[in-house]
Amino acid sequence: MQPLTNRSKIVVKKEMSLYERIYLPAIFSGMMITMSHFFKKKPTIQYPEQTRPFSAVYRGQHVLKRDDNGAERCTACGLCAVACPAEAITMVAAERKRGEEKLYREEKYAAVYEINMLRCIFCGDCEDACPKEAIFLTDRKVDSEVKRNLFTYGKDILVEGVEKDKRVDVSKRQTPEVLEFKKHKEFEHNR
Ligand code: SF4
Ligand code: SF4
Repeated sequence: MQPLTNRSKIVVKKEMSLYERIYLPAIFSGMMITMSHFFKKKPTIQYPEQTRPFSAVYRGQHVLKRDDNGAERCTACGLCAVACPAEAITMVAAERKRGEEKLYREEKYAAVYEINMLRCIFCGDCEDACPKEAIFLTDRKVDSEVKRNLFTYGKDILVEGVEKDKRVDVSKRQTPEVLEFKKHKEFEHNR
């Protein structure tokens, strides 16, 4: 049959030479390659005793932030849940009552806020979608567990502590471009 291109090659099954038939040179050459790896720097990391340095923008376990006065920033708008491609976020909104101003920054807040860490793909879309700077991904790792239900993280795990030493600093994780963007007057309510 006439070939459509001239790229095909005719393969010839030629007889092996004596040098090839005794196999020893090929075995010796293979051993040399193996031996050469003994003296190379090992790329294997002995985890968990050793860990690699994390990227400054590593996306790990989420944090739900509080404002400077200690009130929860999340207003249960649901934008993070809508943006989540893995449908990992669920929440129940509630109305703030009189006297709860110190607990919740806005009139609406998340009475329940859950992230299923087994569904999460740590894409960061929830962080990008949040208009209140309430949710961030951090460099903390999600702990391994043996039961699936332990991977549903609620507010008890996600919301940062009120005390200054329990706050999670996310300022260094934002790129200069993001910080520049947030300087715009029209986004002041986000801070
Ligand atoms: S990081 Fe991505 S997958 Fe995980 S909860 Fe946020 S939006 Fe969903
Ligand atoms: S974390 Fe942000 S986007 Fe998600 S419900 Fe709260 S305020 Fe809205």
